[in-house]
Amino acid sequence: MTESTEKVCFVHDVESNLVKIGATSQCPHVYIAGLAQTWHQRGKFPEGFRLLGVMGCDYKFDLKKELHARFARWHKGNDWFDPVPELRIFISTETHGHACNECVNPSATEDEAMRERVDAAVAEAFRRIPSGVE
Ligand SMILES: [Zn+2]
Repeated sequence: MTESTEKVCFVHDVESNLVKIGATSQCPHVYIAGLAQTWHQRGKFPEGFRLLGVMGCDYKFDLKKELHARFARWHKGNDWFDPVPELRIFISTETHGHACNECVNPSATEDEAMRERVDAAVAEAFRRIPSGVE
């Protein structure tokens, strides 16, 4: 299965307990590493970013705009949103895990068991989100 190049990623910032809805054409894990690096340059050291889910699409900025509009009520600034139940349900039903040649062994990308492990890791990260404003 080939993943779309353009995608929207949902990333949990453990420290602030906010979820970023960001667009990228890179591997989401490379995207997250870049995000952490940008923060470091600004003197901020996030405890950790966790990838919650990925959505492939044709035009990442269109999808991002659509999702930002959809969750506008819980927008906290820039790409960040409160992990309200609406957003968490959306992530658990509409997004998928991620594996590619850049972040896993190339031979494993075709391996169903590996894909399941990646999905499980994403589900695990997702379960760690505190309940927030329920
Ligand atoms: Zn990857």
